Amino acid sequence: MSSDGESTVAVKLFIDKEKKRVLFAESDQDFVDVLFSFLTLPLGTIVRRLGKQSQVGCLDELYKSVENLGEDHFQTKPCKTMLLSPRNAAADHLGRLKVELDDIDQTLFYACKRHMGYFSSVPDVGCPFCGTMDITIRECSEKGTLDEIFAKSRTKFVITDDLQVALSSTALMFSLMDKLGLQEQANIEEVVLQLNSNKMISLLARALLSKQPLTGLYFDVTITPDAFQLPENLLAEQADEAEPMFKAIKMRIIQSKDGTSVLYAEVGHDFVDIFFSLLCIPIGSIIKAFGEWSPNGSIDNLYKSVNEEACVKQECRSLLLSPKLPPFFGCSSNVLHVEELPSGSVSRYNHEVNPKEPIRGGTCRAYVKEGSTNFMVTDDLHISNFSLANSLKAIRAAKIPKEKLVEKELTLDKTQVLKLLRAAMLSRGALSSVLLPK
Ligand SMILES: [Zn+2]
Repeated sequence: MSSDGESTVAVKLFIDKEKKRVLFAESDQDFVDVLFSFLTLPLGTIVRRLGKQSQVGCLDELYKSVENLGEDHFQTKPCKTMLLSPRNAAADHLGRLKVELDDIDQTLFYACKRHMGYFSSVPDVGCPFCGTMDITIRECSEKGTLDEIFAKSRTKFVITDDLQVALSSTALMFSLMDKLGLQEQANIEEVVLQLNSNKMISLLARALLSKQPLTGLYFDVTITPDAFQLPENLLAEQADEAEPMFKAIKMRIIQSKDGTSVLYAEVGHDFVDIFFSLLCIPIGSIIKAFGEWSPNGSIDNLYKSVNEEACVKQECRSLLLSPKLPPFFGCSSNVLHVEELPSGSVSRYNHEVNPKEPIRGGTCRAYVKEGSTNFMVTDDLHISNFSLANSLKAIRAAKIPKEKLVEKELTLDKTQVLKLLRAAMLSRGALSSVLLPK
């Protein structure tokens, strides 16, 4: 705990002052548990906690698009809340961490006083009978009853600058010193840091974008994404699982005739639903779906450590390696194959209402309303209402004469949608990196 009473976790850094870098770190399970919990966080939670300045691909623009789009484009008002403040299916575990990363109270639920049993995890969801939910209930996880969360306790962990986590041992220290080319008499300074929630979020941002997150945090280096080339193959070979809910997506793109830039695309609700729902997907599920997070960043090493090292309790592995979605948080077309938990119960409330369709037994899965309206998507995935004014604005901003522009109709299959989703996390030009010929 820090001096002002805020919860913190401690980590000891071993620093090469001369070269201004963190060599490695050592900690007990409290710090490592918070590190592992990164994998359970939905992308929307990360963007929100970073003040919409995560700098991760197009995610900040997607988040702002949800904020700015009128409520009438969504199935219900709570749909917007679900995307901007996603619930975390691992909330029971996260509630026991020394430092919590989410600022949404995951123990709070809403219920109807008049119609017993009906409840929701999302605010403003209506009871299917009377349209309101007027009481709040709190489901407390057993805080402090178990000392182990993800990591095995009663041991020390070694963490490298690029977030490989392993059980501490003399042999490991020797091999690290060899790897780093260090002599025993090298000038290594030891510093203990106390990290609060904001510092851990800053470490997460660095873990997503940099190979040296601990060095960056300690020396307070400005976070800028390391430059990198988009991988040649956006999708590693995958088993092509059939997705019965997926239907091909039609879109129109406005691009330059020479194929160098995409101004915008005109899309329907189906496209918007898939891309908005990305905000509810936990990082661990993204790594599972694509085989890696990014050639950039070091969060992949954290994922590998859960998979390969003996530092995580067996029963917690799947929670971190293939995190699930809370009930009703999936979307109309589950192209990433993320499993959704079945609706549950909270104390004596056992009818969880579908926030997307709060009628009895509502089965709607889409966030975005089906309709005749088209949406406009820019290259960095800012999504807005299509209007002539917006279209004209985009054409003027591009400064390309209209005789050098061409409109194309495309039909996206599942592979192309997956490529676009992957590009959404890696590039600021998602449409052009996938849809323009190389
Ligand atoms: Zn009611």
